[in-house]
Amino acid sequence: MNIYAGFDLGGSRLRGVLCDRRGEMLGFRESVTGPSAGGIVDAMAEMLENLAAAASVSLKTLRSIGIGSAGSIDKARGRILFAPNIPCLVNYPLVKNLEKRTGARVFLENDAAVALTGVWWKGDGNRFRNWVLVVQGTGLGGGIVIDNRMYTGQSGNAMELGHMSIDVNGRPCRCGRKGCLELYASGTALEEYTAAQLDSGRKSSLVEYRARGTLRAAVIAEMALRKDAVALDAFGEMARYLAEGLTNIVNLFNPEAIFFGGGLSEASRLYLPQVKKIVRRLALPGFREHIEFISVKNQSLVPAMGAAKHAMDSLV
Ligand SMILES: [Zn+2]
Repeated sequence: MNIYAGFDLGGSRLRGVLCDRRGEMLGFRESVTGPSAGGIVDAMAEMLENLAAAASVSLKTLRSIGIGSAGSIDKARGRILFAPNIPCLVNYPLVKNLEKRTGARVFLENDAAVALTGVWWKGDGNRFRNWVLVVQGTGLGGGIVIDNRMYTGQSGNAMELGHMSIDVNGRPCRCGRKGCLELYASGTALEEYTAAQLDSGRKSSLVEYRARGTLRAAVIAEMALRKDAVALDAFGEMARYLAEGLTNIVNLFNPEAIFFGGGLSEASRLYLPQVKKIVRRLALPGFREHIEFISVKNQSLVPAMGAAKHAMDSLV
């Protein structure tokens, strides 16, 4: 039996899976992304050994490894070109060194591309011919399938949803523009909005988290579920902006479905109903009537599975 591995390499988490040719998952592991390039390669190799041991399979049958990485990548050279969240890997020969370490072929991909593949393969994406994936974590990204084909653009980086401006006079973005959606509809945006509300003197159970420096999106979600007013407002604000951005996408691409993945989507019941309502009100007639809004199931392992699928398909 041949086996394949997939990694979802993010700024804070490294997630890995092993699977067989049919896409049966043999195991899933997760760890913190380390601060050094050599350490990340070691962590990947060790994760593979642990996964193989736990599944009672031999790594001698490992045919290929896919890595979906944050940032922009150079597929051909197997290197990361730009990744503010994992600076140690910029220009590092990641593919070459992991191949040397494991003896298997390694393929590097864009993280949005592997997430899209994962949702298509393992998350109901194949029920539709035209659909959009929104990935909300620390930042905001996405992907699109048009007429049953993944649309990647000229350089493989299409659908930078996070850098679609929704306000020419908005907040300045590190990409050089103003009002980028990511600044209003990401985990970071949620944290910043909440912090500003607390600074203005609003009372909230989140004050103590702010004081301890642990005001994270997951905590805000937890407090929103407990009906904290500031936390609920933060999600309401985020939903409003996200819906504006998605209405642009709906009016441009007329999709059948929008999937929501990424860490923030685990709290999707706090904002999806509102996003749905607003998009259905704002989008043009003929576009807004039959769109499904779907939260990706098992969002933490779907991108790694997508990376394994890329690894599998890249061999043939
Ligand atoms: Zn931007």
